[in-house]
Amino acid sequence: MTRRDYLNSALLASGSLLLTGVSPRHLLARDDWDGYSGIGDYAGSNGNTFEVVTDGHMIRDRAFEPLPADVIETGEEYDCVVVGGGISGLAAALFIARQAGPRRTCLVLENHRIFGGEARRNEFLVDGRRLIAHQGSAMLFPPLDGTFLAGFYDSIGIDYRQFQYQAWSGRDPEMPLGHTSYMQDGANSGFFFGAKFGHPEGLWLIDPWGRQLAGAPIPESTRRELLAFHAAKPVLPKQPGDALSRHLDSITLEQHVMDTCGISRETVRTFLSPVSGGGSGLGADALSAYAEYAADVLLPWKYEAGAQMFPGGNAGVARHITKALIGDSFPGPVTLESICRSPVNFASLDRPDQRSRVRLHVTVVDVCHEGDPERSGAVRIVYLRQGRLYRVKARSVIMAGGCWTTRHVVRDLPRTHQDAYAQFHRAPCLMANVALRDWRFLYKLGISECQWFQGIGNYVALRKMPVFGDVSPTVSPDSPVVVTIKILFSKPGLPLEEQVTRGRMELFSTPFRDYEERIRDQFAAMFSARGFDARRDIAGIILNRWGHAYLSPQPGFFFGKGSDPGPAEILRRRPFGRIAFANSDLAGIMDHRASILEAQRVAQQVMDVLWPATSGRTTKV
Ligand SMILES: Cc1cc2nc3c(=O)[nH]c(=O)nc-3n(C[C@H](O)[C@H](O)[C@H](O)COP(=O)(O)OP(=O)(O)OC[C@H]3O[C@@H](n4cnc5c(N)ncnc54)[C@H](O)[C@@H]3O)c2cc1C
Repeated sequence: MTRRDYLNSALLASGSLLLTGVSPRHLLARDDWDGYSGIGDYAGSNGNTFEVVTDGHMIRDRAFEPLPADVIETGEEYDCVVVGGGISGLAAALFIARQAGPRRTCLVLENHRIFGGEARRNEFLVDGRRLIAHQGSAMLFPPLDGTFLAGFYDSIGIDYRQFQYQAWSGRDPEMPLGHTSYMQDGANSGFFFGAKFGHPEGLWLIDPWGRQLAGAPIPESTRRELLAFHAAKPVLPKQPGDALSRHLDSITLEQHVMDTCGISRETVRTFLSPVSGGGSGLGADALSAYAEYAADVLLPWKYEAGAQMFPGGNAGVARHITKALIGDSFPGPVTLESICRSPVNFASLDRPDQRSRVRLHVTVVDVCHEGDPERSGAVRIVYLRQGRLYRVKARSVIMAGGCWTTRHVVRDLPRTHQDAYAQFHRAPCLMANVALRDWRFLYKLGISECQWFQGIGNYVALRKMPVFGDVSPTVSPDSPVVVTIKILFSKPGLPLEEQVTRGRMELFSTPFRDYEERIRDQFAAMFSARGFDARRDIAGIILNRWGHAYLSPQPGFFFGKGSDPGPAEILRRRPFGRIAFANSDLAGIMDHRASILEAQRVAQQVMDVLWPATSGRTTKV
């Protein structure tokens, strides 16, 4: 019995055991965890790295309580320290730089080797061609004119109208490709059915929705249910907090789908979970039904323009915000092309003479007011860098790292806030980027995207890349491409926390080579009859392991239960002493726009509440 077998059989039996003391360093060697990480600025920064997770789990295991006596005093003092250099933390720093006046100083502390959080990218070099893909956050949604978000994108140099995509090339008739890595469900999509459906040799259904699932090896009743689900036009709540949204937040997504589309629990669990049965990482049985609609209710966008995607997904947004914050963080002008292609000027990020600084590769382990939080004039922040602890001081702190670290790191967090954070659950996710030498095997099948219902992952979708990236201006079936497999760990039927914990354990105990093998086997099972050869056709795989990827809101998360507010409201309402809270998880919506809007709110709070001299200045773009 291997170590992994043991973990999967014996240890998984106890959810509580899993929550304490287990880190990648207990399970996998560094190389087994990180694996190959690509080239360029993002090499060594794929997903949550071994080093970051190991440091994070030392916080969880209270290794810094109490702090040792030998913390190094840097003597640095800032007006604001932001913990977390994802889109929310970077945007908060930018709002402060723009609004709080020329003398205010702000330091962003980020634990990975590069900023961006879930919005980072991978780069491959395949047969001399650079290929770029997203590590997590993918789609950019064209904003409605005149909105805060439209002004914000404009102010950092992102204009979705300038996204021009690759042209088709070669002699083969053109196959329409989407602009994102999500399925379009058009004529060139396919469903694959394997042994679970009585077809060990594999059965392909091309254009499944166009053909009304005719020929799918599923019972007629299931076919009718799936068609009903696909055709359903949901009635959206008109505004957050209205009767419909409160009703949706009181039931599970699974119940809602069963009620409104007349489909069985079994169909939901076999076919809709977790990708189309709620994109929040867990089974639809664990999620609030409102989670399915929250983004559209709160953040409507120009649907007719279609979702767009930078070559590296929303790493593009993080890069633009950083350029706006620190002008020479990327050499060259503020253009899509320049910011996408230029290497990061790391030396520019943390210079002593600048107002806004970004310090990478440091894990904040302790944040605490000096004295009584309500009267205190300062907060002390301690971070870990290569085994040593350092202290800086700030007049205000923005915790933008996410629920899973904030609740451990803020040492004097009151019980109300601890209880609120205890209601946040974030599901794991593995994003596997697979570089292919070409995709002719898909073209031969007549597809550019497909979905499957057993094995590892659920779907892949090819896309055209925007040509401002350092990518080929054309695409054909002979082009090297990257496909992204999103691997979620939903375990419908189990309690929410157990789904999360079991998923995380699977992610933590599976070495790179096992995932690599499973991905190769999955592709071989589906495509070898069409000429696919894993050894020849797969040029490389990068795994991005996200231990706490998706906030998975349970019923009651958004609008609370009875007269109690939802947990996020307690954290958002006002700062605790000199510490305020951001990150997209507070919105309950895993969307980079939520990160930006939470940053706007928190920057405004810091200015109004903590720096009364700036009160009245609105957080503008
Ligand atoms: C797989 C996936 C796909 C997604 N797809 C989309 C999409 O298509 N479109 C979209 O709009 N959104 C998408 N999202 C969601 C969206 O991108 C995220 O919600 C957003 O990027 C989160 O930004 P953030 O700054 O709030 O948090 P994060 O990106 O999590 O940033 C927080 C940062 O703080 C760091 N940190 C945490 N604790 C500490 C500490 N103690 N010390 C130092 N640093 C710390 C973290 O490591 C991280 O880098 C997706 C998310 C995932 C996981």
